[in-house]
Amino acid sequence: MSAVMMDGKTLAAKIRRDIREKCAAMRRPPSLAVVLVGDDPASAVYVRNKEHDCAECGITCADHRLPASATQQELLALVDRLNRDAAVDGILVQLPLPLHLDAQQVLRAIDPGKDVDAFHPENVGRLLLGQPQYLPCTPSGIMELLRAYDISPAGKRCVVIGRSNIVGKPMAMLLLQADATVTVCHSKTPDLQSHCLQADILVSAVGHAGLITADMVKEGAVVIDVAMNRGQDGKLCGDVDYAAASEKAAYITPVPGGVGPMTRAMLMKNTYLAAQRRRNG
Ligand code: NAP
Repeated sequence: MSAVMMDGKTLAAKIRRDIREKCAAMRRPPSLAVVLVGDDPASAVYVRNKEHDCAECGITCADHRLPASATQQELLALVDRLNRDAAVDGILVQLPLPLHLDAQQVLRAIDPGKDVDAFHPENVGRLLLGQPQYLPCTPSGIMELLRAYDISPAGKRCVVIGRSNIVGKPMAMLLLQADATVTVCHSKTPDLQSHCLQADILVSAVGHAGLITADMVKEGAVVIDVAMNRGQDGKLCGDVDYAAASEKAAYITPVPGGVGPMTRAMLMKNTYLAAQRRRNG
């Protein structure tokens, strides 16, 4: 069997076009404030990508840069100003923050109605209760990708590897709410292979190139590779041995071009939703 490649890049482009049309119909375009502290090169690239996506979708994007030496108070004051600014619909604080700053306190300070990353405890709690106002971008992008390929998690055995707050835990929650039977694995899980072999849908979000080999993939499974690693050749790759796993899986996401573009598209969707919600009072 050779798996169908789940093309997140093309689907994300379609979603951006849809959002562009919706934004164009608004009297004032949605606006996203992106806060970047310090000069981490990877974060700078992520912020540039967000600016690019916003431009394509017709969303106003304002960058707020603070030096790496910024204090917690300075950062909180900026978040407070953006919370109160009626012209700002969505706020995103680019993570990771420099080590001397308390990221959790900063995330808690964002107005939950403007929290387009859905990392505020109120939005995390709403997700857990099945009453979300925003869905976290990476797991919701994966759910959109599954929908686009007519893959329903209902009644399926799903295995999520990774239990981070931004990917693993909310992914498990969304699959559970879609009526899957979900197992969450992590670094202390013994015999990862036996769990993976049970998976009709396998989601790997670890950050360890080559972790998922073909002998961990069930015949006909759907394999979602969230990770973004640099291989020994310097190229971007995921956790999964793509070529070998493709011989066993029915569907598989590539890296790059799978989950990554969907994550970016979901941020645009959340920003549009934030603007729409605020316009409707
Ligand atoms: P993270 O916070 O470092 O979490 C990694 C998880 O993997 C942890 O729960 C860890 O377990 C688990 N783990 C580590 N080694 C393992 C092993 N040998 N076997 C099983 N589980 C293991 O990372 P993250 O933020 O969730 O990101 C995960 C990956 O996804 C990274 O490569 C990141 O770059 C990528 N990512 C991609 C996107 C995208 O849009 N494509 C978005 C976000 C993240 P413990 O909890 O026990 O430590």
